[in-house]
Amino acid sequence: MKPAKTLCPYCGVGCGLEVLPPARPGRPVNRDGEGNPIWQARGDRDHPSSKGKVCVKGATVGESLDRDRLKYPMLRESLDQPFKQVTWETAFSRIVQEIQQVRAERGPEAICMYGSGQFQTEDYYVAQKLLKGCLGTNNFDANSRLCMASAVAGYIKSFGSDGPPPCYDDLEKTDCAFLIGTNTADCHPIIFNRLRKYHKKNKRKVKLIVVDPRRTDTAKEADLHLAIRPGSDVALLNGIAHLLLQRGRLDAALIDDCTTGFSDYAELVQHYPPERTAEICDISVQELETAADWWGQSKHVLSLWSMGMNQSIDGTAKVCSLINLHLMTGNIGKPGAGPFSLTGQPNAMGGREAGGLCHILPGYRVIKNAKHRRAIEQGWQLPEGSIAPQPGLAAWDMMLALERGEVGLFWVAATNPAVSMPDIERTKAALSRSPFTICQDAYYPTETAAYAHLLLPAAQWGEKTGTMTNSERVVTLCPAFRQPPGEAKADWEIFAEVGRRLGFGPQFDFQDAAQVYREFVSLTAGQLCDMTGLSHDQLAKGPVQWPYPATTCAETAADKFDKRLYTDLRFATEDGRARFHPFHAKGLAEPPDPSYPFVLTTGRLYGHWHTQTRTGRIEKTAEMHPHPVLEINPRDAQKLKIQSEEWVEVRSRRGYARLPVLVTQNIARGTVFMPMHWGFLWANQAEVNALTHPEVCPMSLQPELKACAVQLTAI
Ligand code: SF4
Repeated sequence: MKPAKTLCPYCGVGCGLEVLPPARPGRPVNRDGEGNPIWQARGDRDHPSSKGKVCVKGATVGESLDRDRLKYPMLRESLDQPFKQVTWETAFSRIVQEIQQVRAERGPEAICMYGSGQFQTEDYYVAQKLLKGCLGTNNFDANSRLCMASAVAGYIKSFGSDGPPPCYDDLEKTDCAFLIGTNTADCHPIIFNRLRKYHKKNKRKVKLIVVDPRRTDTAKEADLHLAIRPGSDVALLNGIAHLLLQRGRLDAALIDDCTTGFSDYAELVQHYPPERTAEICDISVQELETAADWWGQSKHVLSLWSMGMNQSIDGTAKVCSLINLHLMTGNIGKPGAGPFSLTGQPNAMGGREAGGLCHILPGYRVIKNAKHRRAIEQGWQLPEGSIAPQPGLAAWDMMLALERGEVGLFWVAATNPAVSMPDIERTKAALSRSPFTICQDAYYPTETAAYAHLLLPAAQWGEKTGTMTNSERVVTLCPAFRQPPGEAKADWEIFAEVGRRLGFGPQFDFQDAAQVYREFVSLTAGQLCDMTGLSHDQLAKGPVQWPYPATTCAETAADKFDKRLYTDLRFATEDGRARFHPFHAKGLAEPPDPSYPFVLTTGRLYGHWHTQTRTGRIEKTAEMHPHPVLEINPRDAQKLKIQSEEWVEVRSRRGYARLPVLVTQNIARGTVFMPMHWGFLWANQAEVNALTHPEVCPMSLQPELKACAVQLTAI
C-alpha cells in the first residue's frame, strides 16, 4: 500500500510525514473505528521543509489516532449531570435553537467561538464566514492568541502586514543566528538540528547567539549565551542598537530609502548605554558588546524567536525592537537574514491567513480597516456593514466576559483552555458560568469537556482533507487516509451545517474541502499572502510556498520554495516603507518582591505537546516526561534545604502547585522553571497556570504566560 503523504499535526516546523497502516489482515473496521490499524508515521523525504526528518512526536503520532476518541455527540443540561449520547440531528437542532435565542435576546456579541491552530485552513475559513460574516460577531479567537499574537502585531506594525519574511533555507545561509526567547532544540527540534549541523560545520564563520534566562539545550550549543533577567529583552535589544549606532554599523541607504521613524528610534536607544543595559539585563558589558559586535560584523543576521518573546506584556514591543535591529542593519529581504517567528501550532499560520483571530479577516486583512471589511463582504456577497467594524473578544477577554455573565453561548473547538489559559482557577470559574458551552474535540475526556453541555466529535488530522501552512509559508495538502471513528465530522462540515440550518444556505453550500479552499484563496488575491495559484489539485502534486499568485505558471522548484518576502525592500505599508517603532522596556507585570521572591518561567518539553491531549496517550512520549518537575538553582535549593526529587509547594498570588524539584545549574538564581503540559487530568495539583497571571500585551492582547512571581516552601 502506498503511504499517504501529509504533515505532522504538532508544531509549526511542519515536517512532512508518510503514514501507512501495518498489514493486519482479517480485521474489518467497524462503525466505531475499532479494528482500525495503528498507523505508522515516518519522515517524508520529498517534503521541502523537513526532507525526511521527524522528531519523536511526529514519529509516534499514529498511535494517538484511536486512543480515547469522542465518537458521538453527547448532551447534558447542566454540568453536574452525566452526558447522554444524542444524534447529530438533536445536536444541530439544539445549537441552532441556542444561537437564535442568544442572538434575539442578547445580540450576536453574546456568542463566542474559541478555535485552534490544530484546525486546517478550511475549518478556520468556514468558522470566520459563520461568525464574522453571517452571525455579525467578530468574537472568534484562537489559541494562537496565547502563542503568536505578538508576532502578528509586530509584523503588522513594522511591515504593514503579518507574514514571516525568511524561509528555512536561510538557516544555512546566515553568518549570525540570533535566537531569543526560544528553546528551539526542544520545541522546534527539526529546525534546530538543521541549524546545529550547519553551525558545527562552519564554526569559524557562523556565530550562534542564544538569549534565554535558562541554559536550555539550545543555549548549550551557543557561542554566546546571554542569560538575561526575565523581562529585560527590550532593554537588551535597545542596548545592542545603541552600540551598533555608536560603531556606525548601519545600512544608511535602507534606512533612508525604505523606512520611516529612524531618528526617534536613534534618540530612544541613547538611553541604553552598555553599563545601564548590562545592569538591567544582569549580564556583563563584555557579553553585550560581543553580541553587538557579532551582529554588526555579520552580513546576514537571522533572528529566531517564539514564546519567550511573544508571551509578555512587552510582546509586541519585543518583536518591533528586534525588527528595528534588522532594519537598521539591512538584515531583511536577502538570503540568510530576517526576523523569523517560529510558530507553535501546526496551522496557526493558515489560521492567520484565513483571518482566524478576533481582529483580522481572510487574506491578512484587519477588521478595523473599512476597505478590508468591504473586500471580504463583497467576496462573501454580503451587504455593506455586515462585518462589525470593531475587533471581537480576544481569548482572555472571552474569559472575562464569561465571568461577567455576558456570554450566552461559548463554543470551543480543538483546544483545551481549562489547562492552557492563565490564572486557571479563575478560568475554570468563568467557564462554569457559561449558560451553554459546546466543546468540539477529537478526544474525550479533556479538562475543558468538564465544562461543556454539548460535546461534538471532531474528525482529526488524517480523517479529513484540508491544508496546513508551516512557519516558512509552505502549504501542504493533508488528505484523509482513514475513516473518522463513530460519527465524527470535519470541523468545517459542522460549521457549514450550522450555517445552513440558520438560513444562510448559499453561503455554506460547499460540496467538499477543495471548494472551501477555492473560495478562500480567491480572497487572497493581491495580498501579501496571495495564494490564488493554489488549489487542492495543485497541492496534491506536492507542497508549495506562498506567495503563489494565479499568474505563477512556471513549475520549477525555484518558483515553489525558498522564497523570501520583501526582497525588493518594498513593504506592505501604504507608502511601501517599513516602520521603526521605538519602545522602552516595561519589564515584568509581576516582578519578584520580598513576599514572592522567585520568578517562575514556564515552557515546553521535547516529548510533550501542549496539554497532552495526544502525547499523554502515547506510551513513548508519556514515559519521556512522566510528571512535571520544578527546575531550581543549587544555591536556592540549598537555602530551602531541598534536594532533587524532594517536593515543594510553589505559590503565587493566585494559587499553588506541588511538585518535585530538579536541582540544576541550568537555571539562574532567583528563577525557577515549570513545564506547561499538565492539566488536572494528568497530574494532581501541578497545573502551572494555577500560578500564572492574566496581564496581557496591550497591543497584541497576548497574556504574559512566561513569567510570574512565586514563593517556594519545602513540603
Ligand atoms: Fe512534528 Fe514539529 Fe517534530 Fe517536525 S519538529 S516532527 S513538525 S513535532
